[in-house]
Amino acid sequence: MLSPKEKAQIRGVLEEEQKRLVKKSENALSYSMNHERNIGRDSIDESMEEEIFSTEMRLHDREKFLLGKINKQLRRLDADEIDVCEDCSESISFRRLVARPVTTLCIDCKEQSEREEQATEQAGRAGGFGDLNEGSESEAKLPAEE
Ligand SMILES: [Zn+2]
Repeated sequence: MLSPKEKAQIRGVLEEEQKRLVKKSENALSYSMNHERNIGRDSIDESMEEEIFSTEMRLHDREKFLLGKINKQLRRLDADEIDVCEDCSESISFRRLVARPVTTLCIDCKEQSEREEQATEQAGRAGGFGDLNEGSESEAKLPAEE
């Protein structure tokens, strides 16, 4: 069980991340609007611009997904269960929650699910979304579309 002080700290981390993501989404949105205005301008390398645009949109999808995870964690925090592993109901350590505020699994279950995910990927089946922010940022799973 986390102390009120620990919970406040995790809430702070989550809310800060939430604000950052909302801001990034807004930037992506204003970029897309500028983009529409710029269509037809012939002085820009259009293929380059298309590339930037699609990258922005993919970031936007990822932000929406992460925001969903953060909202879920804030609900778990309110319900006093943010430190309860979704799989085995063991407690998740405060240190782990601060380092990985969107995690809903204890380290044992996380390692287990990563092994299963790898096995799933090797079998060539799409495994759905894993736990984002568990590894490096570049590992974020995005809908494959080119
Ligand atoms: Zn667990």
